[in-house]
Amino acid sequence: MTASAPEFLPFVRPEIDAATIAEVGKVLASGWITSGPKMQAFEAALSELFGGRPVRTFANGSATMEIALRIADIGPGDEVITTPITWVATANVVLTVGARPVFVDIDPRTRNIDLDAVEAAITPRTRAIMPVYLSGLPVDMDRLYAIAARHKLRVIEDAAQAIDSRWRGQRIGAFGDLVSFSFQANKNITSVEGGCLVMNTPEEALRAERLRLQGVIRTGLDGMDVEEPGGKFNLTDVNAVIGLSQLGKLDAITARRAELAETYFRCAADAGLAELGIELPLPLDPQVATTNWHMFQVVLPTDRLQGGAPDARRLVMEAMCERGIGTGVHYPSVHLFTYYRSLGWREGMLPHAERIGRGIVTLPLFPAMQASDVERVCATLSETCKRLSK
Ligand SMILES: *Cc1c(COP(=O)(O)O)cnc(C)c1O
Repeated sequence: MTASAPEFLPFVRPEIDAATIAEVGKVLASGWITSGPKMQAFEAALSELFGGRPVRTFANGSATMEIALRIADIGPGDEVITTPITWVATANVVLTVGARPVFVDIDPRTRNIDLDAVEAAITPRTRAIMPVYLSGLPVDMDRLYAIAARHKLRVIEDAAQAIDSRWRGQRIGAFGDLVSFSFQANKNITSVEGGCLVMNTPEEALRAERLRLQGVIRTGLDGMDVEEPGGKFNLTDVNAVIGLSQLGKLDAITARRAELAETYFRCAADAGLAELGIELPLPLDPQVATTNWHMFQVVLPTDRLQGGAPDARRLVMEAMCERGIGTGVHYPSVHLFTYYRSLGWREGMLPHAERIGRGIVTLPLFPAMQASDVERVCATLSETCKRLSK
């Protein structure tokens, strides 16, 4: 190591400041450490963010989606249409409630679910659509809700990555049906682990409260009943106070991420990434869909690298890692996992998802990064792909 060697740049790094750490200490010393006043304060702040809609928090984003499915009364015999380019939780929770996930292909430009394919996959058993806003980019929300209305379907938005993303200027979550967010450590704002669900009515919120704590209904000081069994999915006050503090920085975080994304587009052009066959994210019309830049992802020209070797992406990621740059994969196509194959899914069924699932790479993006980091990432990626395409 020379003195000038740059520090390893991870693809993401959560930032918890000293004031937040002090708040955590206060909660721990307060005598009330699990769900309590801080959880309620976090829920109130989130509700304000989403235009006053009812919001409840949960232990994680996966539990949040599971509760959303239960609130929508989705269960055995039902089909839920979703995208295969997602964190596997999206499909797993559909199986958990006993329903069947139906994957449809993605639009290769947005890398999100293709809404034409959604319409074509609707059957009499379809009960809900679960879109995912990959890297924070919303789908065409007007079209999504028009399809749902026409076919009388629920929409459970997996907005895990989309806090502060917008559609026609309105925040994701401030409108729509059931909208699920995650505050896992890698998300734009974090409570270490956690999630929240934006709902439509006080009745849904009451049901969510019960389902997150075994279904228990308390009356007076001693009354207890269960009408519908639930799980153990509550968010602790320790997590909530971290989430609250992060929420206060949301505007600054979103703005900084947008700046870094712009820098990426500029440096990608300087480094000639498109000329090498590397696909960049969609440049957006801010009048319509605004992403929160949860990730900056490229799709590698895997057919051209190392003679189309099946491990072309791994070679690129290893070479970047050797040069001090961390990258990630979000995500391989879920339908090709062993379990999902056992349900009948195969190669060739969802060609866009399969190609993008093989070639997609997440580049480093977090607020503390500098423009020089972005420049180094793009230059290193360019050199690596040039070397491997020889
Ligand atoms: C993070 C994430 C989830 C799940 O959130 P957890 O809090 O990790 O359970 C679900 N879907 C997507 C698309 C995610 O990115």
